[in-house]
Amino acid sequence: NSLLAGRTALVTGGSRGIGRGICERLAADGALVAVHYASNDAAAKDTVDTIEAAGGRAFPVRAELGVDGDADTVIRAVEAELRARTGQARLDILVNNAAISDSDGGIDSESPQAFDRLFAVNVRAPFFLIQKALPLMGDGGRIINIGSGVTRIALPGELAYAMTKAAIATLTRNVANQIGSRGITVNTVAPGPTRTDKTAFFFDRPEAQAMIAGSQALERVGTPADIAGVVAFLAGPDSAWLTANVIDATGGSYLG
Ligand code: NDP
Repeated sequence: NSLLAGRTALVTGGSRGIGRGICERLAADGALVAVHYASNDAAAKDTVDTIEAAGGRAFPVRAELGVDGDADTVIRAVEAELRARTGQARLDILVNNAAISDSDGGIDSESPQAFDRLFAVNVRAPFFLIQKALPLMGDGGRIINIGSGVTRIALPGELAYAMTKAAIATLTRNVANQIGSRGITVNTVAPGPTRTDKTAFFFDRPEAQAMIAGSQALERVGTPADIAGVVAFLAGPDSAWLTANVIDATGGSYLG
């Protein structure tokens, strides 16, 4: 379809996993997509090549998040590319997807260094990406943050990570209220267990399959395409009246 024809999108962490699924879907729907990533050039090239082979439009943007000046670097690069490709620097859709989950453990063993890094990549970067992207956005704009279903359960080893995703929900509600007058919506999509190149080894084990069948209403692990479908809806015209929400996209995790 061409629901997003003429629209531009930036997806952080768009070269692999869920982000790649989102990039492919937004491009298939007609958007010109900035595929942001940290360092794996081959994966970013493969994502852009796949989109172009399917008739879509995309370009890579390399920049590490979680370091000083990160958001500025990303937005300046995207602005320059958009100007070169479309003649203007208008960004319609920002998807804050990149995040890390590396942890030293929960409350007993988490180190201050790992804690700070989680918040720098998962919270500080999206906060300042929104701040720097807003001047490029206008009426009909969409900010979509990727949260996590772990905010509503207690997984001890995921504590600091879950806290970063709770912060994303607060960021979503506040910014939505502040910029609604500009016709921009802000929502969070919270995935549950999702099979990516990084998590496949875990979810493909028979024990994991059994565990998933017991804890998921839909009795399977999600795919990047499952999450991308929800993001595409939020990016498109039919979601114009949705803002300040955290959309549970877990496939019904831990409902009891
Ligand atoms: P992946 O780890 O597979 O995504 C990696 C992507 O993020 C790559 O593009 C990578 O670039 C980029 N990236 C990683 N770290 C950085 C960094 N410091 N700076 C810039 N880019 C970075 O993630 P998933 O697809 O698993 O997760 C995507 C989102 O979904 C995250 O917000 C995650 O918290 C959330 N989520 C995931 C779940 C799951 O089961 N997978 C469940 C619930 C939520 P490069 O390859 O170049 O390093």
